[in-house]
Amino acid sequence: MTNDNNQNQTGVVSMTQEGANSDVKTGKPNGILPSLGGADWPVFEAGWVWMVGGGPGDPGLLTLHALNALQQADIIIYDALVDKALLSWTKPDAEIEYAGKRGGKPSPNQRDISLRLIEFAKAGKRVLRLKGGDPFVFGRGGEEAQTLVQAGIKLRIIPGISAGIGGLAYAGIPVTHRDVNQSVTFLSGHDRTGLMPSALDWEALSKGSQVIVMYMAIKHMPDICEKLIAAGRDPHEPVAVVNNATRDDMQVLETTLSKAHDDITISGIGAPAIVCIGRVALMRQCLDWMGQMQGTPPRNLDPLDVRSESETG
Ligand code: SAH
Repeated sequence: MTNDNNQNQTGVVSMTQEGANSDVKTGKPNGILPSLGGADWPVFEAGWVWMVGGGPGDPGLLTLHALNALQQADIIIYDALVDKALLSWTKPDAEIEYAGKRGGKPSPNQRDISLRLIEFAKAGKRVLRLKGGDPFVFGRGGEEAQTLVQAGIKLRIIPGISAGIGGLAYAGIPVTHRDVNQSVTFLSGHDRTGLMPSALDWEALSKGSQVIVMYMAIKHMPDICEKLIAAGRDPHEPVAVVNNATRDDMQVLETTLSKAHDDITISGIGAPAIVCIGRVALMRQCLDWMGQMQGTPPRNLDPLDVRSESETG
């Protein structure tokens, strides 16, 4: 049931500055960056905040703009789900600060983090706010960025690969497939109070969303599945749970809507996880490319049972 793709695809990168690629340590904007076809890479001006998406885990999924930012930043303030390897790609004297829980202290609230960014920017630092995945997808990036703009701080946003797309791709699941869905719904499994989102219309979701991709949903899975089934969703609908997506210890659970909760409990799969509900999850049977790299042949070459004559190119 649980398929542990225990492959080392990220390599081990030291968290210390010495462990980094020496080319990346030059601090020059164009250290190892390719030519932008005549344009210059953006220069990180003092007193600015760049809000950067770190991608879902595998450091290779970082964008070049993000690498350019890391090479110039004076201070990097990062979140829990950011891969530590990225922190070794900074310039040697950069300060690195964790924005999450530290030493048993409660995690700083959003306002404290924003105020800290403002403080550093006003002190003339190049402040890199590094967030997991994409900063504007369930990452509170919008709130933080708004506070910065309200405080008159100059801002650049550098998007990243969101776990709900890139993470599923590592599990061999395309979020859209013409034979299954023409839309995809991303939802958060809990609201700002930690409870199941009360504003969600489960009836509408159940009827209107062929594929539902859920972030932060493990805790409330029993309720979520129950609500979707009660709203008319097929209890046998395929579900994939992808834990630590794109990381060395990625785990994938394949289950169904009615069995998801029990299977999650039995397998012990936990957070952080992306949950994909919909027939696209079946595509893993054909597209589990990571498993295939390890020698596991595809289980099914046509998991959606699509006849070739239906292909219209
Ligand atoms: N901004 C992030 C999401 C932040 S919310 C993004 O775009 O990806 C945090 C949630 O994202 C986690 O609870 C989990 O549901 C999901 N997540 C982030 N990284 C993940 C990973 N590597 N594997 C599985 N889920 C991940």
